[in-house]
Amino acid sequence: MGRYIGPVCRRCRREGVKLMLKGVRCETAKCAMERSWRSSPPGMHSWRRRKASTYGIRLREKQKVKRYYGVREQQFMRYFRMAERARGNTGDELLAILERRLDNVVCKLGFAPSRCSARMTIVHGHLQVNGRRVTRPGFMVKPGDKVSVRSAERSQKLLRTLVGDGGGPAVQAWLSLDASTLEGTVNVAPSHDDVQIPVETQYIVEMCGR
Ligand code: SF4
Repeated sequence: MGRYIGPVCRRCRREGVKLMLKGVRCETAKCAMERSWRSSPPGMHSWRRRKASTYGIRLREKQKVKRYYGVREQQFMRYFRMAERARGNTGDELLAILERRLDNVVCKLGFAPSRCSARMTIVHGHLQVNGRRVTRPGFMVKPGDKVSVRSAERSQKLLRTLVGDGGGPAVQAWLSLDASTLEGTVNVAPSHDDVQIPVETQYIVEMCGR
């Protein structure tokens, strides 16, 4: 399956929650979810749809998480199998794995306005982890890792514009950012509470664990 190139806001409307896929626009009144006439599910006759089935509820929960993190089915199932093998609660482990993706960390550090833009920044080679260039958006960070900007003038200029001199919005407690050196640190492993959308992980486990 190829990359989704359709209207992005449609995905938020389908899931009924703000997935923050468009960066700055998501914080403004232009967000489709802020307009009552546009926040309904996409498609004709959406108001006429019946109550969702048990399967439908579980499917929507899974799709919501996949769309929020921008991962495809195969990648998602690989993360799910990893979470199953981990010691803790499978649902919580799954979210912790997804939160540790480099594109998510870059977005949360304020190096990019959205996960999509973070993926572009990574693929174009502007960032490094522990001093080594990483171009894989799915790279998993771990506690103690340092995410920084390459010393190339082009990279420094681009990221400085995005972060600003005083740093962007406050970063979550499991991360920290030194805005002067453009270096972020992963302090601890993320948990379920660090996920910024409401997720019923039990539904995902019931759906994927069969
Ligand atoms: Fe569009 Fe962002 Fe609003 Fe979602 S949160 S509907 S992507 S503007």
